[in-house]
Amino acid sequence: MPPVINKEECIGCGVCAEICPCDVLHMTGEDVPQITYPEECWHCNACVLDCAVQAIKLRVPLPAMMLYLEARE
Ligand code: SF4
Ligand code: SF4
Repeated sequence: MPPVINKEECIGCGVCAEICPCDVLHMTGEDVPQITYPEECWHCNACVLDCAVQAIKLRVPLPAMMLYLEARE
């Protein structure tokens, strides 16, 4: 499940596309990164952490979210 980019907040810096290890995000001449390989996202959160204007939100699938919760306990 790929992240969601807020097009109103995004300033088109391209940092998220550069740091994504899975080629999920690409700058393709648009002002906002395009999601190219959505199924490749492994929810590492790097794009969210490196976005200077907090324009990206991660959507973690429910089964993975349950694993996160178990790991915290
Ligand atoms: S890092 Fe944030 S501001 Fe920069 S292109 Fe990606 S979503 Fe847009
Ligand atoms: S969460 Fe990680 S793998 Fe998914 S789009 Fe962001 S940087 Fe790429």
